[in-house]
Amino acid sequence: MTSAPPSRTTFVLLAERLDPGRLRESVPLAPFTTFRIGGPADFFYETDSASDLANAVTAARELGIRYFVLGLGANILVGDRGFRGLVIRNRASHTRWGDDGRLWVESGAVMRDLILESVRRGWSGLEHYVGIPSTVGGAVWQNLHFLSPAPERERTVFIAEVFESCDILSAEGERKTVGADYVNFGYDDSVFHHRDDVALAVTFRLQRGDPAEMHRIMQENLSWRGARHPWLDWHPSAGSIFKKIEGVGAGRLVDQCGLKGFRHGNAQISHLHANIMVNLGGATAKDVKELIAIAQRAVEEKFGEHLEPEINFVGE
Ligand SMILES: Cc1cc2nc3c(=O)[nH]c(=O)nc-3n(C[C@H](O)[C@H](O)[C@H](O)COP(=O)(O)OP(=O)(O)OC[C@H]3O[C@@H](n4cnc5c(N)ncnc54)[C@H](O)[C@@H]3O)c2cc1C
Repeated sequence: MTSAPPSRTTFVLLAERLDPGRLRESVPLAPFTTFRIGGPADFFYETDSASDLANAVTAARELGIRYFVLGLGANILVGDRGFRGLVIRNRASHTRWGDDGRLWVESGAVMRDLILESVRRGWSGLEHYVGIPSTVGGAVWQNLHFLSPAPERERTVFIAEVFESCDILSAEGERKTVGADYVNFGYDDSVFHHRDDVALAVTFRLQRGDPAEMHRIMQENLSWRGARHPWLDWHPSAGSIFKKIEGVGAGRLVDQCGLKGFRHGNAQISHLHANIMVNLGGATAKDVKELIAIAQRAVEEKFGEHLEPEINFVGE
């Protein structure tokens, strides 16, 4: 889709279709990403329900305005010149808890809040993802996953395992409920990478669990993370930068090139984890992109392997 030039007219047209109180112009995106990087969006709208999200996407499509659905901004790098079009920050987070373990939740809900509530209610299945910044929409977009650390259950758990169905607004503008066959989860992958469908709400299927056991898992996972990953509050990042290379590990290859702690501008390859790049304060998207290229070049020269970025590049 070609983007319409930012203009007062576009703002007025959007304001006629959306709640004008939640529509803003020229909003810096850095504070809405975990990397704390990124220039302004021409237009910025915060949704408060699944219908509001569907409406905003439909308005942008019909007006021919480029749009981007933003969750917690934990898997993206926004360009320094920002985004030409409408960024729709998804804050739709209504929930319905069924007695049978079904949880229906709007896609802007934050996993942290859901985990706390599901553990409190004694429903198990989401606790593994503690400490990973994500909305529900972001979680299905990339099939959120985590390698459980404890020896007796060391395996990668995927959000697909507790997924039952998803209410979507399809690329063609149809609202419908789809199952796992349609969503087609893969490693870091789902249908949402390949079609302009938007996840409006998700139904998870949880199991009865013992809150004490869930808290144990959460504490183990958090301390495992704490020891291996830079702390987001101090060293903003977007999690893993490169896709996994089966059997080798992208981070290990970067590490073996001696790049742990390597700094370029204000971006750095973390001392703790060579597949995580951190913002040392004031890093630009340019710094990060160049650092990505440096790591790719080094790994290609030394090992002949091509590292593919896992994060999503947004805007200019
Ligand atoms: C410190 C740190 C640790 C991390 N650890 C892990 C980890 O262990 N495992 C893991 O899997 N990931 C990890 N990540 C990556 C990140 O947490 C996940 O990718 C997360 O799912 C991103 O969710 P989000 O809401 O922030 O999505 P965003 O970054 O806001 O968006 C990501 C993509 O999803 C799309 N999207 C968002 N919502 C919707 C929707 N409703 N419908 C359609 N598309 C949508 C966006 O348009 C965008 O293309 C980590 C990130 C950080 C910063």
